[in-house]
Amino acid sequence: MSTAFDAVVIGGGVVGTSVLYHLQAAGFGRTLLIERGDLADGASGKTAGLLQLNACRHRAEAELAYDSAAYYRGWSDIVGSGSSGFVETGYLRLEPPGREDALRERVARDVGLGWNSSVVGPAEVAAIAPDVRADDVAIGAYEPDAGYGDGRLVARSFAQRATELGASTWLGVEALDLIVSDDRLTGVSTSAGRVEAPIVVVAAGARTAGLLRAVGVEVPVVPVLTRTVTFAWPAGRGPRLMHVGDVRADCYLRPDGVDRVLIGVSHLARAPLPIDPAVWDDIAEDYIEACRLRLIDRIPSAADVRYVGGAGGPIGLSPDGLPIVDRHPELGGLYFAGADVGSTFKIAPALGRDLVRWITTGVCTAPVAELGLSRFDHVASENDLFAKHADYFRFGGTLPNRALAGGGSASVGGPAHT
Ligand SMILES: Cc1cc2nc3c(=O)[nH]c(=O)nc-3n(C[C@H](O)[C@H](O)[C@H](O)COP(=O)(O)OP(=O)(O)OC[C@H]3O[C@@H](n4cnc5c(N)ncnc54)[C@H](O)[C@@H]3O)c2cc1C
Repeated sequence: MSTAFDAVVIGGGVVGTSVLYHLQAAGFGRTLLIERGDLADGASGKTAGLLQLNACRHRAEAELAYDSAAYYRGWSDIVGSGSSGFVETGYLRLEPPGREDALRERVARDVGLGWNSSVVGPAEVAAIAPDVRADDVAIGAYEPDAGYGDGRLVARSFAQRATELGASTWLGVEALDLIVSDDRLTGVSTSAGRVEAPIVVVAAGARTAGLLRAVGVEVPVVPVLTRTVTFAWPAGRGPRLMHVGDVRADCYLRPDGVDRVLIGVSHLARAPLPIDPAVWDDIAEDYIEACRLRLIDRIPSAADVRYVGGAGGPIGLSPDGLPIVDRHPELGGLYFAGADVGSTFKIAPALGRDLVRWITTGVCTAPVAELGLSRFDHVASENDLFAKHADYFRFGGTLPNRALAGGGSASVGGPAHT
């Protein structure tokens, strides 16, 4: 087994495998992916896989999502092997009163990128999605080309193509430390021994920060568990649904095949991350109920759905909810991508492409240039950082009284993230 490579990628999720594929496709030389478990063992294997643009909070994220949509929708033409599992459902984002200007600005941004998006009112929502209750909706965005993909399939397919092109993948091997000698990055210490490489990309998801701390980089990330819940339609087949982002209720839902519907409540979904992955999918009753109430409130015909299961996975929450992508300031060969608000599936293909452009050309350009650590420079401490963006850390969403089991209404929160 060779232990000298031109580049090593740590982490076999959608980001790490995208980087591996793009390195190999660019003819970078001998590349290696190290994954402590199996491919997509982290967030990528649990993702809802939603791809839409209006939920992107920053132009950089929207640009990466737009470019990534081309991969997900045209996988066999671009990547060649495997599949993204993309299902085109369309996306409806529903906003309560008071947020019209921001939604219009995002639609204009996305149309400017070339994405098919339009502003719709309640009457159009009712026509596009007859099963969706829209009487409380002030304005919406409609994206007919949006949908969802399969994170596990994406990671496997990127890795498969990279391997066909000559990359190596070591599964069940843990990266323990980055090796620095004479102020130069020289490789990675792993559970299978030492690996030499001048270029290392850390794409270890919620664990990225831990590996970087030892080489003097503090990535402001809180590792949390985030969860989705799946219900089955009683007759074995539901109405034709699309992906709905319900901002007032702070939730998102989408069909899961023809017989199921998947839902997540953005802020409520988050819980402390248990160390043992075996319990990630144990979904608490109160969360299931919160999801069920929101589903029925928005899709009244879902009153008889049956809970069939849930999925939980780790995300590294960044202070502003955006990914953190950067290079070590002194160790030139060390790149990293991690942190998000549970939204990096939609940008992973283009993120990997642009990271590899940076590695191969030495030049970092927008949009990735806007996702670096320097955006937090003006904030003094990590506590201040998270306080500044506190809207991302509180539970949000309201339901009308009739939909809440015990009456009352929950607090208003930030925007639904997907
Ligand atoms: C329930 C849920 C729903 C989501 N829904 C959406 C959505 O609808 N749309 C969207 O865009 N995003 C969504 N996300 C977020 C998205 O899935 C993640 O942002 C994305 O998968 C992150 O990919 P990644 O490759 O960076 O990290 P991961 O998929 O977490 O991969 C990191 C990998 O690194 C490995 N690793 C860690 N440490 C080491 C080490 N020391 N050595 C070797 N390997 C290591 C892990 O085992 C893991 O396989 C969701 C996430 C969850 C959990």
